[in-house]
Amino acid sequence: MTLRFKIAAWFVLFIVIIAGVLWFLETEMLTKVYYNSKIKETEKVAMMLAEKCQTESVDEFRMTLNNVCYEYQVCISVFDSKQRAAWARDILYDNCLLHGYGNHSYRYVKELYESKTGTISLTEYDEKIQMDTVVVGVVIGEVGSGDGCVLLNAVLEPVGSTVRFQKRLIMIFVVVLLVIGCLLALLLSSHLTVPLMKITDSAKRMAHGDYETTFEGGGCREVDELAEALTYAEHEISKADSMQRDLVANVSHDLRTPLTMLKAYAEMIRDLSGDNPKKRNAHLQVIIDETDRLTALVNDILDLSKLENGSQKLEMKEIDATTWMTDIIARYKGVSEQMGYHISFTPDEHCQVKCDPAKMERVVCNLINNAINYTGDDKQVFVSQINTETAVRIEVRDTGSGIEKDKIQKIFDKYYRSENHTREVVGTGLGLSIVKAILKLHSFNYGVRSKLGEGSVFWFEINR
Ligand code: ADP
Repeated sequence: MTLRFKIAAWFVLFIVIIAGVLWFLETEMLTKVYYNSKIKETEKVAMMLAEKCQTESVDEFRMTLNNVCYEYQVCISVFDSKQRAAWARDILYDNCLLHGYGNHSYRYVKELYESKTGTISLTEYDEKIQMDTVVVGVVIGEVGSGDGCVLLNAVLEPVGSTVRFQKRLIMIFVVVLLVIGCLLALLLSSHLTVPLMKITDSAKRMAHGDYETTFEGGGCREVDELAEALTYAEHEISKADSMQRDLVANVSHDLRTPLTMLKAYAEMIRDLSGDNPKKRNAHLQVIIDETDRLTALVNDILDLSKLENGSQKLEMKEIDATTWMTDIIARYKGVSEQMGYHISFTPDEHCQVKCDPAKMERVVCNLINNAINYTGDDKQVFVSQINTETAVRIEVRDTGSGIEKDKIQKIFDKYYRSENHTREVVGTGLGLSIVKAILKLHSFNYGVRSKLGEGSVFWFEINR
């Protein structure tokens, strides 16, 4: 169902409800209210006449009858003590229920005398004029005195023509409202649907890979917000898309290099060095090294994806930060001495911290490995522990060439590797991404300071 149709339907429903309420008020309520007030008025007039009949002179009473008859539009019959019609006033030319052929006066008089209250008030349908009327009777003097009575008959529907007119007016009003409502619904829906349709077109273009398309709002705040949200989504999708493309390019590049080497050395062994054990062993060693590189890359990819999709849970333990760090540094001794590196550790006071030690060890090792790889010719790496009030801060400093300011933002991204890295520096380009993922999982602070030509300091804080 289209938005336009829905809005129009709601408008029509609204108008129909308004028309129904008006109709109900006009036909039911107004008629009832009018009937009641007319009956009450007639009763009052009857009382007044019953009183004046006793107090006024004949001439005065005649005048009163004339006035009442015309003013209140009622037919009047006054009966004396012998039930003879003493006075009569007729406004309906013998068509009322009190006068003319087949009138019901005597029945009403009888009912009146039989009533205990000395009054009657009956709503009667007058066949002759085909309208609802009210017949009111009041005895003169004390109830049961037999001094005579006053009967009045008034038409209850003088508003009939007014009601009919108003009903027609309501009909016209409803039709006009319907036309205006439909026009308004049309205007409103175009006001809303046009920007929505534009947004839909843009979204379709985006779905086909056009990330330059713009989402225009307009119409109302919700549509503006939708456009904003989609622009944001477009930005993020385009980022993810380009990252994915980079990732595929980087992975395939990183896979292709060792694979080419593997093939080349395997062919060399087959064609050249197969019979020469020394050469063959050297070539086989290259194959083994490249296979290790491949394994490391694939493992890093798997680990990172596990860390990022949340399938790896932290196994938190309380550890002594100084002992833990000293153990890790000790493991580097052999390697660093063989290759001529000097890794120094400056501990602080012993301090208990809570973290997942296995994962945090990976963070420390990745940072030290990087420092080893990128440090200067003096081959120095400085690791220090600094206790603060809330955390234990570990800093890994090298004396390398440092990182340019604009690159610092990118080094924690997946597969970011500086263009000037050399093949000697073994790395998958995922080391810092893994560091970032583990520290984020722990909600630990981390960062890097670097000065060109002086080296870099990578740091993180283990909360106490
Ligand atoms: P990899 O070391 O395998 O290239 P990393 O994710 O560990 O991947 O590092 C990403 C990039 O960050 C590196 O290519 C390098 O350019 C830069 N980088 C990391 N550590 C250092 C460091 N200590 N000194 C200078 N640059 C570094």
